[in-house]
Amino acid sequence: MTLREPESMDECVYFTNRAVGKGKVRAWVLREQCPKCGKGLMGKPRDRKTGKPMIRAEEYECPECRYNVPKEEYENTLTINVKYTCSKCSNEGEGSAPFQWKKVQRLNEETGKKQSIDSIRLICSKCNEKIDVTRKMK
Ligand SMILES: [Zn+2]
Ligand SMILES: [Zn+2]
Repeated sequence: MTLREPESMDECVYFTNRAVGKGKVRAWVLREQCPKCGKGLMGKPRDRKTGKPMIRAEEYECPECRYNVPKEEYENTLTINVKYTCSKCSNEGEGSAPFQWKKVQRLNEETGKKQSIDSIRLICSKCNEKIDVTRKMK
């Protein structure tokens, strides 16, 4: 399996590239075709006056048929693609998972306390170490 990498940010609903300990995580979610008409790429609705996408809109819209879906509902149907370098064994791998944030317990390295954060978790194919793509970058 080879993951298709985005050529530009315009293709993505979500993109991140970060260092995690000694490892690396690069993750992206590609926009997909409209489930109704199959012609348009679903995206944030555009401002009718300026033509600019409304980044903070809580919905996605098809530019062709105007099919409209709430943000959460649409994003839950997408797939997140991940390329990683495992921080434990340095294995380079890739995988994908449903684009659904789940609460996981993680140790905050600064405070030493456990905290609950939104994350999408993959497992290193070599050593089974958890690879977390966290929602917010701290
Ligand atoms: Zn459409
Ligand atoms: Zn590993």
